[in-house]
Amino acid sequence: MVQKFEQHAADEAAMQVLGAQLAQVFTQVVDQQCLLVYLEGDLGAGKTTLSRGVLRGLGHSGAVKSPTYTLVEPYALTLQAYHFDLYRLGDPEELEYMGIRDYFSEPSLSLIEWPKGLGILPEADILIDIRVVGRGRGVTITANSEQGQVCVSALCASAV
Ligand code: ADP
Ligand code: MG
Repeated sequence: MVQKFEQHAADEAAMQVLGAQLAQVFTQVVDQQCLLVYLEGDLGAGKTTLSRGVLRGLGHSGAVKSPTYTLVEPYALTLQAYHFDLYRLGDPEELEYMGIRDYFSEPSLSLIEWPKGLGILPEADILIDIRVVGRGRGVTITANSEQGQVCVSALCASAV
């Protein structure tokens, strides 16, 4: 099983393509369970851009903005998806107040920017790290569970 997938996304369009590839792979797994994806990288790295690519790949056609103030935005698409941005989360207990467990009680995909409140937030299946490289972005996708490994292996296979 492959643990890691690395790709250089030269521009925003390349990021969308990668997002669409991820959407395909996630769809195979989310059928049966919850998949948590943590997105890491500085402000402006491209976390929301990649999330938008995934959500579009799942059939969303409108805008996708970081839910900075509402913390989470649900998307009922070809699969149930949640886009979190926990940048403004103060106390991890706020996750309890927003009923965080309900989000993971049925098969769904959660894309989580600025993951915080570890211990309350379940562990990630997949970690995506994005950093600026020249004019583009370096994207490293790492498996953090068995389901995550299935996804990363499928991604490697689909990218050949
Ligand atoms: P974050 O959510 O990490 O704060 P955003 O997704 O909002 O970052 O993206 C910040 C900026 O980076 C946007 O202007 C977007 O167009 C640009 N961007 C995203 N991906 C790439 C890429 N692969 N190459 C170049 N620019 C990118
Ligand atoms: Mg963002």
